[in-house]
Amino acid sequence: MTDGQHATRARRLSRARRVVVKVGSALLVDPASGRVNRAWLESLAADVARLRGRGQEVVLVSSGAIALGRRHLGLASGKLRLEESQAAAAVGQIRLAHAWKEALDPHGITVAQVLLTLGDTEQRRRYLNARATLNTLLALGAVPVINENDTVATAEIRYGDNDRLAARVAQMLTADCAVLLSDVDGLYTANPARDPEARLVAEVDEITPDIDSMAGPTVTDVGSGGMATKVAAARIAVAAGCHLCIASGRVSSPLTAIEQEQRCTWFVAHDQPAVVRKQWIAGTLEPAGELVIDAGAAAALGRGKSLLPAGVVAVRGRFGRGDAVRVLDESGRELARGLSAYSSEDAERIRGRRSSDIARILGFRGRDEVIHRDDLVVTPQRRGRSAGDVA
Ligand code: GLU
Repeated sequence: MTDGQHATRARRLSRARRVVVKVGSALLVDPASGRVNRAWLESLAADVARLRGRGQEVVLVSSGAIALGRRHLGLASGKLRLEESQAAAAVGQIRLAHAWKEALDPHGITVAQVLLTLGDTEQRRRYLNARATLNTLLALGAVPVINENDTVATAEIRYGDNDRLAARVAQMLTADCAVLLSDVDGLYTANPARDPEARLVAEVDEITPDIDSMAGPTVTDVGSGGMATKVAAARIAVAAGCHLCIASGRVSSPLTAIEQEQRCTWFVAHDQPAVVRKQWIAGTLEPAGELVIDAGAAAALGRGKSLLPAGVVAVRGRFGRGDAVRVLDESGRELARGLSAYSSEDAERIRGRRSSDIARILGFRGRDEVIHRDDLVVTPQRRGRSAGDVA
């Protein structure tokens, strides 16, 4: 690989705006003692502080609750039953969050614990709530430390591995880079433990069936999904416009190591996260209702602004918070599509009103916008007319 190619690879991390870093249990917890690997965690915390110092946002997805908790419940090594691992997670999660707090405190970084279930990432309303909370934490300068809410997740409705959870979080937060740190340094053409010919794949431009077969079947031990879940995570991430790196965390300062071109596998995304998200809003959702807006609001949408309640003249259909709706002008022409921050009932009550009145009318302080501009896609108009024409 040339120097130029190395530099391009490193920039996927060093130039990212928002980075999700997944940390595997095998790195965080020393298997012999069952305790936190503090020196290593401190080196990673220093890396996180360095990224933040450059103006990058960092979200951590940390495993380790089960591995840390089991010792305190006297659960011997080996495979745990589901309810035992849930009990271990309840005990270990406190210690895990505490370890992160201790590691990031010296850098003046506030840590926020967020426990998610599968439903929080798959059901649109809960997804929007989780996304709003995480975005607020980031805006306020905190570093979220996310794990699956193992104690309540049941077998059928859990991720079970933090690789895919991390990818979903990256997608939810339109992150542009995700790093999976574990005890493997990347994807190999064959199992390197068995095949001396096995080579590390440095770049994956497209996840083909060949790539899937390199990953092999999922190996499940405590807290590790194996290579197959990492490739599944990569598929989610790159489809969302987020580059994903599988790298070894078996080194001190693992993020620095990636920037210094330690061996790793990059799954390359070809679109920007915001573009992918907007394509999804524009194309794949069946709108559940309609908002009719006045000419002033239509002109504002044409300038890339959010839709405020003041500009809404009518609400049609029944929809929930987070549902996709069509935005129409008063002649019925579709101007945009977006995700409504309010249910149809609430939208009806606040339409035509100022955002500062929302709390008084609804009895809670919701968003200022009915559709935030990040959740809004202007519909391309046929030739000769444009969304701005109506203004
Ligand atoms: N959520 C599990 C834990 O904290 C780990 C899942 C994983 O490692 O992928 O122990």
